[in-house]
Amino acid sequence: MLRKDEGILLKSARQGETSRVVTFLGRESGKIRLLAKGALGHKSPFRGLLEPGNLIEAVYYYRNGRSQFFLREVHVRNGIRADREPLESVASSLAILELLDQTSYWGSPDEHIIDLVGEYFGAARNGDPLFIFLAFGFKLLEVFGTMPELFACSVCEKPLTSGYFHPAEGVSACTSHSVGTGKRIRLSADLLELLERMAETPLRDLTSGTVDRDLRKRLGRVLHWTYTFHVHGYTLPEALKLIPVQKHH
Ligand SMILES: [Zn+2]
Repeated sequence: MLRKDEGILLKSARQGETSRVVTFLGRESGKIRLLAKGALGHKSPFRGLLEPGNLIEAVYYYRNGRSQFFLREVHVRNGIRADREPLESVASSLAILELLDQTSYWGSPDEHIIDLVGEYFGAARNGDPLFIFLAFGFKLLEVFGTMPELFACSVCEKPLTSGYFHPAEGVSACTSHSVGTGKRIRLSADLLELLERMAETPLRDLTSGTVDRDLRKRLGRVLHWTYTFHVHGYTLPEALKLIPVQKHH
């Protein structure tokens, strides 16, 4: 049975002497492993096409019910351009792949994720690489429908001008209604303003953005704890370590 799908290559590994196995997150397939037989051979049509971070159109088939998937054709549409992009930009994209891998489950497709990935690779990604990663993480929460309430108090329902975010519950509260037990993160006026701007701005316009280092750190804390409480076993992507932390400006 032949299938055609669009998606992102999350991982690629050697399989035996001659083949590769890739982790593919497809619009219709969700996350699956595809075996590319003979991909290590000099004349393989897959040569150079199976790099993680490639946004591809894949033609594949399966056997034994749906337990084994075999790659037949690959067309690269977009993706990481390691030869043309600065290291920190590549690192930011690699961190996004790790985030997608951690948050996607085997065979549960969500086409909006692939739309977001397409938007990301189609955008000018010349902003602050750490902010770009956070902007993607923020938009991914919107796609999942797990964006916490950040803008209104969960008790009095008034719009927040300052208060606290409670990541375990996914809610926020104003200064008078926030109960100080458990993990809570201060939502100051500048952070709320940034979060609001991010909610209103499409990803493609955020990827050329940059924010003050301290503000970015506080934004990172909101997202990190949201993912920590909502994604089992979530850890900060390793690739973020490749991004040098910029000086305060
Ligand atoms: Zn309140």
